[in-house]
Amino acid sequence: MPSIKFRPHHFLCAFCFEGNGYSPAFVKNFYQILAQVKNVAIEVVEGLDDICQPCPNHAQGICRSQQTVQALDHAHANILQLKPGEQLTWLQAVEKIKQHMTLEKFHLACQNCNWKKLGICEAKLHKHTRYSAGSGERQGTVSSEAVI
Ligand code: SF4
Ligand code: SF4
Repeated sequence: MPSIKFRPHHFLCAFCFEGNGYSPAFVKNFYQILAQVKNVAIEVVEGLDDICQPCPNHAQGICRSQQTVQALDHAHANILQLKPGEQLTWLQAVEKIKQHMTLEKFHLACQNCNWKKLGICEAKLHKHTRYSAGSGERQGTVSSEAVI
């Protein structure tokens, strides 16, 4: 089975993607990846992945925002229980998001992402989130309505 590479925080980015990105080439590549993601294995990697390849922030083998994205990767790997070298299908990845990603965890894990303030990812999680009855807090997990 062919595979594509995702760094840990890009699983949720892919789940929430709505066509925004760093450049037209980046967005085009992202759409191409999403078009094939259900038919390939996804390998968890450290560092640059297939989404990063055309990114203008990709320079000399690392991300220009290396410290920030490493923190994002670390947080998302912990929440989704992803390990480098692990391979999973997109459905398995969505299942991990459904099982482990709460809105509280999202707000912490993604707090330093510049895209977060647009509210797109939060709205996507809201749309696909069930709330704990009577809790009054954002404690939902992602519903079974997978985005892609
Ligand atoms: S807030 Fe940023 S890191 Fe988090 S899912 Fe959205 S784009 Fe990805
Ligand atoms: S900003 Fe960095 S981590 Fe994000 S897609 Fe670009 S190169 Fe990859």
